[in-house]
Amino acid sequence: MRAEPCDIVVVGGGAFGAISALELTSRGHHVTILDRTPEPHPDASSTDISKMIRMDYGSDVFYHELAEASLDIWDQWNASWPRPLYHPEGFLVLSASSFEPGGFEYESERVLRERGYEPRRFDADALRATWPAWNADRYPEGYVSPRGGWAESGAVVARLLELGRDEGVHFVRGSFSGFVEDGSRVSGVRFRSPGGSTHTLSADRVVVAAGAWTPVLLPWLDDVLTPVAQPIVHYGVDNVIQWQHPTFPPFAADTAGSGWYGFPSLDDGRLKLGHHADGRAVDPDARGEVTAEHLELARTFLRDSLPELADAPVVGTRVCLYCDSFDGDLWIGEDPERSGLVVAAGGSGHGFKFTPIIGRLVADTVERRDNPWLHRFAWRALGQARREAARVQH
Ligand SMILES: Cc1cc2nc3c(=O)[nH]c(=O)nc-3n(C[C@H](O)[C@H](O)[C@H](O)COP(=O)(O)OP(=O)(O)OC[C@H]3O[C@@H](n4cnc5c(N)ncnc54)[C@H](O)[C@@H]3O)c2cc1C
Repeated sequence: MRAEPCDIVVVGGGAFGAISALELTSRGHHVTILDRTPEPHPDASSTDISKMIRMDYGSDVFYHELAEASLDIWDQWNASWPRPLYHPEGFLVLSASSFEPGGFEYESERVLRERGYEPRRFDADALRATWPAWNADRYPEGYVSPRGGWAESGAVVARLLELGRDEGVHFVRGSFSGFVEDGSRVSGVRFRSPGGSTHTLSADRVVVAAGAWTPVLLPWLDDVLTPVAQPIVHYGVDNVIQWQHPTFPPFAADTAGSGWYGFPSLDDGRLKLGHHADGRAVDPDARGEVTAEHLELARTFLRDSLPELADAPVVGTRVCLYCDSFDGDLWIGEDPERSGLVVAAGGSGHGFKFTPIIGRLVADTVERRDNPWLHRFAWRALGQARREAARVQH
């Protein structure tokens, strides 16, 4: 049964907010996105040149299936959008030791194989022969998954916002500063316009999808959601074709040990490396710069693993913010103490790939419909993980 149309304000126009607004509009609701800028905000986690799209989640079949459902929609988007923004170039997973049952690489490959995806396992000799840029002495085992690749994430958000605009989503430029409340019910938001004046927007429901800013805007969530800084480094490469599909797939290079993962070069010669580790908790508006220590770690990784890039010049850096939930799971639920307030955050460094599905999850939450995926992401107290999973990898 269709829910009664209502007025909804979505705070945040990153990937989670943009797709939520689009889905809610398609269900007949009147939706306004409030963000500090109408375009993808340059500081948003979604606004980046690339994000990994993969279904490799160790033995965690829940996320594997969520990625599987998302990938079907990535394919549909590719087929219907003016140009493909998801590049299905596979996902190369390298291990610095032999595969062990229980390990991320072993379990990911097993789940893929058992579910019919035909990952190709290889040893050092095959790595050397097939992807010669890699120092095969460092990686005795690995596999390549054919079902995955990378997406032009900033361009995807721009596209979703454009589609939203076409479908009737309203955009308001301003910075959220609080809720309008009616007892324990949230009935709108207050915001500061770029000129500094304060305004309100009334709403039947408010969705806060403010990424790493969420625990700042909603401080009662700061024990379960944390903004965490992670470094990104762009290198300049000369022979672009050598560093692109099919000779150089997106990769995770023993990420649990080294922290490094990366992407093929863009046509302009930018090759991106990212570091996935515990990171450092930060104020999202004072995230700092990529440190000399991280640049040195990245250089050591290149020297050891991709020797032809040992002297590649750094052409850009970016500190990107994870919105880490305490258990690594997304956070999509209605606040039990503030009726009408829905939070869609907790991307925890791996949320972008699920963008195609997130709108449905958020819309079902807003409409208070049951959805089997939502159980794991629902409101929970610290220590009440639906699954006490360690943080997941890229
Ligand atoms: C370094 C890094 C690498 C990552 N790699 C991957 C990957 O390879 N694969 C993957 O699947 N995921 C990856 N992720 C995770 C992914 O980027 C996020 O899960 C996803 O982009 C989160 O989107 P979001 O919409 O929640 O947040 P954001 O994109 O950050 O959007 C939040 C929005 O809220 C707005 N906002 C903030 N404060 C206010 C306010 N006061 N008023 C109004 N608006 C406000 C911001 O301007 C912004 O537009 C990575 C993240 C990082 C940081």
